Amino acid sequence: FPEAFPGILGLSLTGRALAEGLWNLRTTDLRPFGIGKHRNVDDTPAGGGAGMVIRPDVMDAALREAGRELPVIYLSPRGKPFTQARAHALANGPGMTLICGRFEGVDQRVLDAHGVEEISIGDYVLTGGELAAQVLIDATVRLIPRVLGNQDSLAEESFSPDHGGLLEHPQYTKPALWEGRAIPDVLLSGNHAAIANWRRDMAERLTKERRPDLWRA
Ligand code: SAM
Repeated sequence: FPEAFPGILGLSLTGRALAEGLWNLRTTDLRPFGIGKHRNVDDTPAGGGAGMVIRPDVMDAALREAGRELPVIYLSPRGKPFTQARAHALANGPGMTLICGRFEGVDQRVLDAHGVEEISIGDYVLTGGELAAQVLIDATVRLIPRVLGNQDSLAEESFSPDHGGLLEHPQYTKPALWEGRAIPDVLLSGNHAAIANWRRDMAERLTKERRPDLWRA
């Protein structure tokens, strides 16, 4: 569904960066490569069962058209989990061709033939790969220099290696008192060392509580 793009990526910082050419996007519709009068792109699963599978010949023709020798990634719940580290690697790479599946997915043979890597955005099943592709693109594009107004905001972020791979500390802004809830005093103290310590403590506490897996790592 090419009309799903750029979608949310056309807004705000990623949208501005797209307009400025800091990254670019080209979509390829499967339909023109479809078979027969109805330009079918899918067929019933071999071995029986519910749903439809995207045909290998159709996907192959679309991939050849997309061309450009970029690594090919298929967004798939079966894939390797997507991580911030992977987003950094992709942001430093040459770009990528993303396959967005629909229905039951894509015929395995075309994935094998093109050496396609499968990446998942989480342990749940979406209707199609377009949202997953937008998640991957968003996380990647914001790491390209000059896409974010203030590159410093990346350093303290959740999962950042500069930040020990921890979750980020809580954030506050004005007003200082809202509905009886005050901003922690230390954040208004002007004592930069104390603020840094508080943030570090909070990041550690949150990570221990919420993500014991990250804490152990
Ligand atoms: N039959 C597949 C399975 O059980 O693994 C699910 C197919 S899903 C309904 C349709 C498409 O959505 C997939 O081909 C994939 O492109 C996309 N998709 C669904 N969940 C995803 C996830 N967690 N991560 C990435 N892509 C996903």
